[in-house]
Amino acid sequence: MFDKPRPPTASRRLNHTARLAVLAAAVAMGGVAVTVTPTPSSAAACNGYVGLTFDDGPTGSTSALLNVLRNNGVRATMFNVGQNVQNNRSAAQAQVSAGMWVGNHSWNHAHMTSMSQAQMQSDLSQTSNAIQSATGTRPQLFRPPYGETNSTLQSVASSLGMRQVIWDVDSQDWNGASVSQIVSAASRLQNGQIILMHDGIQNTRDAIAQIMANLSSRNLCPGMISPSTGRAVAPDGGGGGNPTTPPPGGGSCTATATTPNVWSDRYNTSVTVSGASNWTVVVGITPPQKVSTTWNGSFSWDSSGNLMTVRSNGSGNTFGFTTMMNGNSSARPQIRSCATG
Ligand SMILES: [Zn+2]
Repeated sequence: MFDKPRPPTASRRLNHTARLAVLAAAVAMGGVAVTVTPTPSSAAACNGYVGLTFDDGPTGSTSALLNVLRNNGVRATMFNVGQNVQNNRSAAQAQVSAGMWVGNHSWNHAHMTSMSQAQMQSDLSQTSNAIQSATGTRPQLFRPPYGETNSTLQSVASSLGMRQVIWDVDSQDWNGASVSQIVSAASRLQNGQIILMHDGIQNTRDAIAQIMANLSSRNLCPGMISPSTGRAVAPDGGGGGNPTTPPPGGGSCTATATTPNVWSDRYNTSVTVSGASNWTVVVGITPPQKVSTTWNGSFSWDSSGNLMTVRSNGSGNTFGFTTMMNGNSSARPQIRSCATG
C-alpha cells in the first residue's frame, strides 16, 4: 500500500540516482549542471493551531475514536457528560492516556439555562467530581449542552475553575453530515478556532484523516484550548488542566525542518533535532504526497501511511527524506512532536 522505508544503503543509492537523473535532465535541457535550483523554504512548522473537540462521550465507541486520533497523531479536547463518565470510567481514563484533554459538558446534557443557580452549581460540580475521580484531573474547560448559556451559568462555571468554551465551526455531524461535509466544515477553521464534533459518530471518525490532511496543507496543527483565553494554542504537554503525559516518549526536544532541495516532482526535507541525542520525532505527510526515500534514522509508519515516526539510530541528529509531490506541490511535512527516548 504505502511505501515502506527501505534499508539505508539502498535508500541513499536511490536518492543519489534520483539526483543524478535530475542533473542529467538539467544538462540535457541546455543548462548548467548546477541548476538543481534548491528552493529553500521553512517547511513543516505549525503556523497556527485549531481545537478539535468531541462532545457527549465517553460512549461505546470512544476507543474507536481514540484509535483514529492516535493513528493520525491528533490530540483533541473531549467534552464529557458526567453521567457517561460515571458509567464508563475506563473510557474516560483511556481518553487521558491517549493524550486528550477532558472538559466538562454537564451531568446529563440538560438545557441548563432553565436551571436555578444552585442546580447549575450542583450539576457542574458533580460532573467535575466524576471526571476527576475517573481520570485524576479536574476539568478547566466547560461547554454548555447545545451551546446554550447565560451569565449565571458562565459565572457558576467560572466559580468552579472552568472557562466556558463554545465553538467557531459546527461540523453538523450531530445532524447527519456526510464525511465530506464534515471535512469541508473543518476546512473553514482558522488559527485559534475550535470545531464542534461528537464522540460516537462513524462519519466523524471517518473524516479525521482528511481533516488532518487539510489542516496540514494549511500548516495548521491540532492544539489545546487555553483555559485562560478559550482559544486553540500549542499543546504545552499538560493542557486543558490535564497534566497528561504527552504522546509517545518522555521529555521534549526540538525538531527543525528545512527543505533544501525542491524539484518539479519531489523535494528533500532535512530535520535537525536539538535537546536530545536519543529521540523520537513524529512527522505528518499530506496525501497524496508520499515519502520515497529516507536516511539517517529508523523510520516507521502508522496504518494511514500519513504519519511517520522517526527514531535516532546512531547516525547523528539530522535525518532526511525525499517526498514525492504526486500532484500536490505546496504541502510540506509537519513536525508533530519531538520526544526524548
Ligand atoms: Zn453535547
